[in-house]
Amino acid sequence: MSRNAESTAFRSALEVIRAVEPRVADAIGAELADQRESLKLIASENYASPATLLTMGNWFSDKYAEGTVGRRFYAGCQNVDTVEALAAEHAKELFGASHAYVQPHSGIDANLVAFWAILADRVESPALKKAQVRQVNDLTEADWFALRRELGDQRMLGMSLDAGGHLTHGFRPNISGKMFDQRSYGTDPATGLIDYDRVAEAAREFRPLILVAGYSAYPRKVNFRIMREIADSVGATFMVDMAHFAGLVAGKVFTGDFDPVPHAHIVTTTTHKSLRGPRGGMVLCGPELADQVDRGCPMVLGGPLPHVMAAKAVALAEARRPDFADYAQRIVDNAQALAEGLLRRGTTLVTGGTDNHLVLLDVSGYGLTGRQAEQALLDSGIVTNRNAVPQDRNGAWYTSGIRIGTPALTTRGLGTAEMDATAELIHTVLSQTTPGANADGTPSKAKYVLDPAVADSVGKQATDLLAGFPLYPTVDLG
Ligand SMILES: *Cc1c(COP(=O)(O)O)cnc(C)c1O
Repeated sequence: MSRNAESTAFRSALEVIRAVEPRVADAIGAELADQRESLKLIASENYASPATLLTMGNWFSDKYAEGTVGRRFYAGCQNVDTVEALAAEHAKELFGASHAYVQPHSGIDANLVAFWAILADRVESPALKKAQVRQVNDLTEADWFALRRELGDQRMLGMSLDAGGHLTHGFRPNISGKMFDQRSYGTDPATGLIDYDRVAEAAREFRPLILVAGYSAYPRKVNFRIMREIADSVGATFMVDMAHFAGLVAGKVFTGDFDPVPHAHIVTTTTHKSLRGPRGGMVLCGPELADQVDRGCPMVLGGPLPHVMAAKAVALAEARRPDFADYAQRIVDNAQALAEGLLRRGTTLVTGGTDNHLVLLDVSGYGLTGRQAEQALLDSGIVTNRNAVPQDRNGAWYTSGIRIGTPALTTRGLGTAEMDATAELIHTVLSQTTPGANADGTPSKAKYVLDPAVADSVGKQATDLLAGFPLYPTVDLG
């Protein structure tokens, strides 16, 4: 693709937008400039391709398309059918899944679709059969009341939030924690790793309907074969939320026991994290759950976003190219180089390293909370996010950890040498930052002191580091 075509496309689009609301056009331009300047280490973010981005700005956005391919509640969906079928086709081929549902608007929505599909299959369908009716509208008031209570009284076993799980895996403030009676498995306090024997024990005691694996902040691989055996041993449906690491599955870095697709009954994901597609979600499953999953919209989800499904088709086509496997491998190489660089400089890492795309720093060794570390790094042009570490003493708001990830910088082209330089910048900031005090002299969990000259100098070095790796090099807004 010529540099000219992409520059022209974005420039023309901005010109059209500017004629209506110039402040929006300016903000879009400013966002590109900001992204170009910052050392983005947010583990859940990436940079989608110009083709993926451009696919989202068109008249597909004008269409209602409730239902599924070939079975819509609205007329005139033939072109939406084309792009939705293409996205599903690419997803099935890429992940080796028998069914793909590409309508979820986000990872959280994909999880809701999966939860309700499992509940419908395992709780609602047997109740309908028992009452000898075809659908819920045909149940008596008494049977319907009993079924609703039963739907609301099922058990889920998932990874705890502070061990790296996600709040949609049964955390009380989230709807999943209210829908399900939830227990969680953590990690071994000594190693920081999942202890499969403990998971099996928890499953035996609790007997969940759903066993969930998947994480947002666990820097290691999960053995999905063992997890499936545990689920089978108690008759649970095994669900994997691969939102964070879908790109590593797509790129065949996670294979065999570490590829969730052949082992799970149902897999959910986002499409915008390591998979590098548009902001959205997806559900993969076998034939048993396919019909229930396809009822996602309108039973759980709002109307599908056809322009985003079209962009999913484009991004998934990109992920099927051989260079995506190189990209996925470089994500992990970079995360490991970053981890080694930090360890060499004395930083404490949860589990002592990584075998995926993310590294979890325990910054208490620097005498800081996660919040202090996050802000001091941000002052220095390094964008990260604070994150709880296992058994965190500072709670979920201040935390003791910093989570960093390499999908975005790897897309930009940075390699292992730059990761070592990045480790040096992070260590410099954290070792030069000291906790601040509250007005009454007690230590603050939020305030910190960092010499602005240090922040400036690190910021300049970060900019220099990025200068060799232009972001969206084919896009010149002029
Ligand atoms: C990011 C994430 C989600 C949520 O994705 P959204 O698109 O933000 O809704 C769900 N599960 C896991 C494990 C995640 O990491």
